[in-house]
Amino acid sequence: VSSAYLIDHPPVRQQFYKTRSRALTGCTVLHTAESVMDSVGPDTGAENVAEFIRTRSTPGSYHDLVDSDSVVTLVPYESGAFHDGTGSNNWALSISFACATSDWRRMTPQKRKAFLRNGALAFKRQQDYRRSIGAPLTELRHITKAQSDAGQSGFCFHGDRDPGRRTDPGVAAPNLFPFDEFITECRSVMADTPPITEDEDDMAKYPLFLQAPDRPIALVWPGFVHVIANDEELAHATSRFGDFEPVGTRQWDVDVSLHVNVAMSRQAVEEIAAEVAETTKAAGNA
Ligand SMILES: [Zn+2]
Repeated sequence: VSSAYLIDHPPVRQQFYKTRSRALTGCTVLHTAESVMDSVGPDTGAENVAEFIRTRSTPGSYHDLVDSDSVVTLVPYESGAFHDGTGSNNWALSISFACATSDWRRMTPQKRKAFLRNGALAFKRQQDYRRSIGAPLTELRHITKAQSDAGQSGFCFHGDRDPGRRTDPGVAAPNLFPFDEFITECRSVMADTPPITEDEDDMAKYPLFLQAPDRPIALVWPGFVHVIANDEELAHATSRFGDFEPVGTRQWDVDVSLHVNVAMSRQAVEEIAAEVAETTKAAGNA
């Protein structure tokens, strides 16, 4: 069992299914916890909500809970959090922002970015878990309840799934969840490069996938980037980074045509990561 707040601090009543009864789909449900946002000093919102969840006598929990300066994993990803009364607890992962839907438009842009960045960090952790067990990844798009119930991949809002009772993380004006800003942060986090280290144990911990909307396109490893790209993306990368010597190419599969190992410096890894993310974003917008 992975480490999680509700493992280290057992809740007073059951707050998650230890193991899920259905396989994960690619759905991630987003929430706000509707807590009172701390606006002064260190942000203790997530910690306060975590403690509230530990001691509450009613069901209600999330996998990850974030505020502007922390990410708290409450429920292990292999378990089913009690985050949605409409049936997704056993097949979706969940992220909750420790604020209210009305806070999105009231907080400063810096604070909002910090919230969303931490949500993106939690999301990357969840994607890494999904990848580690061969579960579908969550695509960077907003899906409806019907799509989520049909097993499609993407982010569904709690308010989409439970429209009679919930509006989080912000489904209607003026309290809209800044979804595009969140996706920007997700792309940025996933394009970040792991630290280069000589230590083999550490190296094993830092494979970093760059995620296109529908598939992984690059695996960044300390000292290497394995670019899994189509011809166009590869041509772009090699034209931009002409000094890189592909050390091997091979057919990957029908959709993912090339897998290239390129030895390069950390700075080069960072540059190619950003470029590949941009190219993919542009391709996705075209
Ligand atoms: Zn919710």
